[in-house]
Amino acid sequence: MITPREELLHALRDAHAMEAQAETMLRGQAKRLAHYPALRARVERHLEETQSQRQLVGQCIEQLGESPSSIKDIGGRFTAMGQSLAGTVADDEVLKAVIASYAFEHMEIASYRMLIAMANTVGEPEIQKICERILPEEEAMASWLEEHMLDVTQEFMLRLGGGHAGVRAAAGKSSRDLHAKR
Ligand code: MG
Ligand code: FE
Repeated sequence: MITPREELLHALRDAHAMEAQAETMLRGQAKRLAHYPALRARVERHLEETQSQRQLVGQCIEQLGESPSSIKDIGGRFTAMGQSLAGTVADDEVLKAVIASYAFEHMEIASYRMLIAMANTVGEPEIQKICERILPEEEAMASWLEEHMLDVTQEFMLRLGGGHAGVRAAAGKSSRDLHAKR
């Protein structure tokens, strides 16, 4: 039977794999967002945060006497979901990138909230503290996306409108009107 401590270790390994996927996803996005400088700047900032988060989670794993280097081949419980989200970057399209990031950040938020509770239960205050330090970075990224996704959508539609007078005219109307035009 698995102990609470082993369960915490598994969850940390999942988080480590999750951050590796986040890094891949954000790096891929940053390259494709030349036309969206505000979004790109935020993605690049979160990419830096993500790199240090991955290191911090690695420290948590070491704290439990394990090595983070043996992690690559472990299929974490959320790995498939994370990969399918990270994979959407392949479609070089800004709206899909925002949807993937928005979903991914919420997966991270849930993961770190659970890790904080697990570390607390097991009695690992150092690990708890590290996860409490990471969580607000994920929440801030999710909030930023929440606040800016409609601006990005608008920008995307306007860019599409180049050469299509109808779409450009419709962009000034409500989103319902815009949908009606399609
Ligand atoms: Mg993260
Ligand atoms: Fe994140």
